[in-house]
Amino acid sequence: MHDLYAAIFLVVFAGFLIWFFKYLGKSGRWKIPKGGLTKKDRLIMASKVRFYKDLPDEEKKLFEFKTAEFLANVKITGIGVKVTRSDELLIAASAVIPIFRFPEWQYLNLSEVLLYEKSFNDSFQTGDDMHDHDISGMVGDGYMNGKMILSKHDLHWGFKNEWDGSNVGIHEFIHLIDKADGSVDGIPKLFLEHQYIVPWVELIHQNIGQIMQGRSDINPYGATDKTEFFAVVSEYFFENPKKFKANHPDLYELMEKIFRVKE
Ligand SMILES: [Zn+2]
Repeated sequence: MHDLYAAIFLVVFAGFLIWFFKYLGKSGRWKIPKGGLTKKDRLIMASKVRFYKDLPDEEKKLFEFKTAEFLANVKITGIGVKVTRSDELLIAASAVIPIFRFPEWQYLNLSEVLLYEKSFNDSFQTGDDMHDHDISGMVGDGYMNGKMILSKHDLHWGFKNEWDGSNVGIHEFIHLIDKADGSVDGIPKLFLEHQYIVPWVELIHQNIGQIMQGRSDINPYGATDKTEFFAVVSEYFFENPKKFKANHPDLYELMEKIFRVKE
């Protein structure tokens, strides 16, 4: 009789294990995209995304895979605005650029991007009759956890003007990367080797000081706190690396290590 109980227990336990690993498989990783990008998609990317255009052919393929993977796993919803293929590709490109040297990276803390036509206020309202709608992107918290909001107008503007070193799409994905280690503090612990954390924090304080004294060309919004500093300098780093390197060699050198730009 004991053998029977043992056998029943084993069958039930095995069933539980199968269910558990299937569940883990589903929740722990992104699904593999069914198809890649079309020729038209690649043309849109090449015309709008300099980072992609400048990659050698082999690496372009990886960028395309990461883009397709992102779009197969993250829903993009227009709020009062139609979502075009260009919108989708630019959102995915914003996500892929900072993690491009981390091919295993998946934004498991993001399920949906809400696209607004223009900037909005902190109650997520938008409209020409309002004066306080100056937010162009945000990463949700609380009941908005797992969601990102982007202004379509500002998303496109960020990729159009590469010389200004600002790009709201990249900015918001940097916040998500920052958030992935459990704390939004401007220190990307999953990206930054331990010995670089102290030098990184020192550079942040030094540069925020320079911004506040008006002696820096970094967007003054970066002086808000360490979190915003990390997002703002990352926009500059990816949008205009040459200028950034010339004006901020120390920051550039450390950020190369953070984003593994130089292997
Ligand atoms: Zn921000």
